[in-house]
Amino acid sequence: MAEHDTTSLLAERNVARAKTIDNLAIFGKPPLFNEKLHVGRPNLCDRDALFQRFNEILDRNWLTNAGPVVKEFERRIAALAGVKHCIAMCNATIALEIAIRALGMSGEVIVPSLSFVATAHALQWQQVTPVFCDVNPTTYTLDPAKVLNMITPRTTGIIGVHLWGRACQIDELQEIGKSHGLKILYDAAHAFGCTYKGIPIGRFGDAEVFSFHATKFLNTFEGGAVVTNNDELAAKVRLMKHFGFAGHDNVIFIATNGKMTEFSAAMGLTSLESMEEFREKNYQNYLQYQKELESIPGLHVLPYDVCEKNNYQYVVFSMDETITSLSRDCLIEILHAENIIARRYFSPGCHRMEPYRSYFPHAGLLLPETERIVQGLVTLPTGTAIGLSDIKGICDIIRLALTHGREIEQRLSSLK
Ligand SMILES: *Cc1c(COP(=O)(O)O)cnc(C)c1O
Repeated sequence: MAEHDTTSLLAERNVARAKTIDNLAIFGKPPLFNEKLHVGRPNLCDRDALFQRFNEILDRNWLTNAGPVVKEFERRIAALAGVKHCIAMCNATIALEIAIRALGMSGEVIVPSLSFVATAHALQWQQVTPVFCDVNPTTYTLDPAKVLNMITPRTTGIIGVHLWGRACQIDELQEIGKSHGLKILYDAAHAFGCTYKGIPIGRFGDAEVFSFHATKFLNTFEGGAVVTNNDELAAKVRLMKHFGFAGHDNVIFIATNGKMTEFSAAMGLTSLESMEEFREKNYQNYLQYQKELESIPGLHVLPYDVCEKNNYQYVVFSMDETITSLSRDCLIEILHAENIIARRYFSPGCHRMEPYRSYFPHAGLLLPETERIVQGLVTLPTGTAIGLSDIKGICDIIRLALTHGREIEQRLSSLK
């Protein structure tokens, strides 16, 4: 797709540059890329097919409220995830809130702190206390043994996050849920198109929530969905995203408005037609990053389990500052100066963001792995907007920076 766009060519011309630290943009030279390379630049689908669907929607003059396009999108998502029910919504945060409410979660719910803040906010917004739990240091998902330690008489559920598309330890969490009578919800915002033990993510726990935000693997501009095999739960979620209307003028309980529009569903359906292309592009990008970065001391590209189907949506590495002699934050500054907008996902962890930082000032004491892991995380630009030669340029900068850590830190401190 964007293999030979202008940024790629620029990168090709400039690889020779990445030989000495004098040439780094942070020391005043022009940036390697003339436009910003972002994490989560949208994967765009076929424009003509999309506009055709838009025209059909306008011709029908049925813009929202369970229209035919949303219904078809829900059927397709349910089929791909291998579940009975998909309820499409305006975004994943509302979908999480509604699922939490429909499941009757209250009191305390155990969640990882190592996630996007929406996981915790969806609980707190409804006065349910998120209890932050540490993660397994290899998978970066909830550590089941530690989940057990966080259970109190007030605990009603667990929200596991399939971080960066890597499934939680679902069997272990299922066991804990069963033995302690806890509801289990999965924040699968990153995991559409991924599997756990070969089974598509979507049918685990009591329900799972996908995000179709513009930055995610598959997008509907803004969007999300609750998927579940539980008929009763699905019916409740459907009512809750539509004001509690059980029929014309018949409202049966308090609810909200979480509906997806027909246009979003059209974007989703059209994007599904390109989904395998997106996956393949992400996979090739990931392989290229891995090849370029694996030999750098102190840097570890998070692997994907080759036995599972992955969407390769996130290229994340962790770095050990004691080996690189360059801080993660300094590397981020260097990359940003080159117009490589790498991110610190998900630092510093939800427990260090407001209001949680004020509510639970000592939460970090029970999160030693999370506290350690977040310090070294870097997420790199990938997706259909990034070409293989862009990646070569990005990796040359990272290699240069990390192999001259001490020199760079010294020069930067002398400039201050
Ligand atoms: C993106 C994201 C969400 C929120 O999704 P929206 O559709 O933007 O509301 C929730 N959880 C995680 C882990 C996410 O990355």
